[in-house]
Amino acid sequence: MKFNNNFAEQVKAAVDIVRVISEYVRLRKAGANYVGLCPFHSENTPSFHVHQAQQFYHCFGCNAGGDVFKFIQSVERITFPESLKFLAEKYGIPMPKADFSKEQDSTAKERLTLLDINQKATKVFKHQLRHSSEGKQALQYLMERGLSEKTIDKFDIGYAPSSSNIIFHSLSKEFPSDLLIKSGLVLVNDSDSR
Ligand code: ZN
Repeated sequence: MKFNNNFAEQVKAAVDIVRVISEYVRLRKAGANYVGLCPFHSENTPSFHVHQAQQFYHCFGCNAGGDVFKFIQSVERITFPESLKFLAEKYGIPMPKADFSKEQDSTAKERLTLLDINQKATKVFKHQLRHSSEGKQALQYLMERGLSEKTIDKFDIGYAPSSSNIIFHSLSKEFPSDLLIKSGLVLVNDSDSR
């Protein structure tokens, strides 16, 4: 997958780095900039700075830094072209079709689909935690362990029922089964294939 720089510039101009990073880091305004706890190293006092005017971030603790693409690459663990696609899709910026070469595109597409499956699966598990009877017991257990609703939500804690292939049942209409299996979230066993 190849992009010309124009498209990268276009995406960069269209998305605000503060808005993008806010989805991952709780930012607080400090002067002209924003600060928060660095998502790339463990810390208790914020040394992670986001510069809105210059559209870049920098951490004084671990020296992580860069533009919005670098941030998405690091936080989502994807490549530059994938980060471009990720942001373009998320913020509704139409992709130039001619920029995709077929072979690389299918691999990248697959990775993005797997990412999508993982995100949807997280939702399914989170739903299970609150709405299934087994899940409610698990929730009760988490509460007893002292986890707050907020923490449970923040860390995307969910519940995966042991008995059923919940991901397959929930996502098989939306995704091809080979990719669901590839995601590692679906169990393949004899009783299912019979
Ligand atoms: Zn850091």
